[in-house]
Amino acid sequence: MTGMNVEKETALAIVPSVDAILREVSGRAEFAAAGAARLTELARSATDSIRGDLLSCALGDPTRESLTADAVARVERLWRIEVRSGTRRVINATGVVIHTNLGRAPLSDAAREAIADAAGYCNLEYDLETGRRGSRGARAERLIAELTGAESALIVNNCAAAAFLVLRVLASGGEVIVSRGELVEIGGDFRVPDVLAESGARLVEVGTTNRTKLADYERAITESTALILKVHPSNYRIVGFTAATEVSELAGLAHRSGILLFEDAGSGALVDLSGFGLDDEPLIARSVAAGADIVSFSGDKLVGGIQAGFIVGRRDSVERLRRHPLYRALRIDKTAYAAIEATLGAYRRDPVGEIPVLRMLSTTADEIEARAMKFAAALNDGAQFTAEVVRGHSVVGGGSAPGTQPETALVVIGHELLSAARIDGHLRSLKVPVISRIIDGRVAIDLRTVSESEEPELLEAFAT
Ligand SMILES: *Cc1c(COP(=O)(O)O)cnc(C)c1O
Repeated sequence: MTGMNVEKETALAIVPSVDAILREVSGRAEFAAAGAARLTELARSATDSIRGDLLSCALGDPTRESLTADAVARVERLWRIEVRSGTRRVINATGVVIHTNLGRAPLSDAAREAIADAAGYCNLEYDLETGRRGSRGARAERLIAELTGAESALIVNNCAAAAFLVLRVLASGGEVIVSRGELVEIGGDFRVPDVLAESGARLVEVGTTNRTKLADYERAITESTALILKVHPSNYRIVGFTAATEVSELAGLAHRSGILLFEDAGSGALVDLSGFGLDDEPLIARSVAAGADIVSFSGDKLVGGIQAGFIVGRRDSVERLRRHPLYRALRIDKTAYAAIEATLGAYRRDPVGEIPVLRMLSTTADEIEARAMKFAAALNDGAQFTAEVVRGHSVVGGGSAPGTQPETALVVIGHELLSAARIDGHLRSLKVPVISRIIDGRVAIDLRTVSESEEPELLEAFAT
């Protein structure tokens, strides 16, 4: 420490010890969840950073008291950041319905209750009729089969796991024929060619980016072909001079040739959503009826439930998947089964009324505008913010229906002194953070993705 001046040495001598900081903070309710060991680490980080700042003369003329107060403030800040980085509820005011970064599909009330109910002991693998061991997931699988018209169903952790399991078990060592227009990347880390390579199957590309015909598939079939893979391009569309081959035609070809047709439908839908402008998402029941041997789709995209990968299809193929050791590594939790049963149960009754994703997608711009006008009026009453309602667009999200942008009514919010970025930052900093969009330099709230029960909370967010 040669060359250090006297003031710095004096200042370093009055840096509060870790014990002194702990005496100030331990016992305070806000730190109760931290535990003694973590709190000690935070106190040590605080003293280290204060020492660093003193050495670079960043703290002016400190006293023992000012440094102690500073250290406590640093512990508070570090702990606040740590707590806020944990998973917590947010209000999604973006209008992106299946928002991957905000947890995709919000669950129905029934699914939330089912999760809480199954969280303790439950009859996961226990048959209450016989008192013997029961089969895991049987009821959820029966529901999926019923809703899709398939012989059999199997559930794994997500659709990526489903596609991998199918290719690994049914095509490893063989050739898989895929149209060049369907070699897509979904959400950054699911790339069809990479998944195929990892599964041990060999990719055989056919056709061109924009046009692939039945004859292209037909020419590529050899002794080594295991299956034809059809991938729904999800977040990506080619428009103009295009041609793709129908599931029914591909199924006919596959079956004439003694191979399987596997469709990775991605999101897929269990009910016809064309009435809401969503007409290019595959209806799973339609693919099954058209002859696809295996179809995989996500539990938390347009199905509107919890994260899961659903596999439906012919009994013998599904049973091969179930018996493979890899299935054991990809299976899901008891609470997920409970949520799936509750979500799928709604499809027997009133899916659009009960499942939040479908309800949000079915809401019209006029209905949203009526809520938006009331919300804007209440905001304008507060006098701090100015609000007006303008027409705009929501987003389906989750890599589904990129061509469909449901019309909506946005509440566009301004403030005399605060920039849009400041308002946005304030909303994110709240106890229940509000996630908004900035459109043309102004904060925009889309009530499509805000439930009516959240509206008072959202209004409150602008009162502080
Ligand atoms: C979204 C998607 C996947 C991945 O689904 P996850 O449930 O996120 O694993 C796979 N394939 C397609 C075609 C998709 O759209």
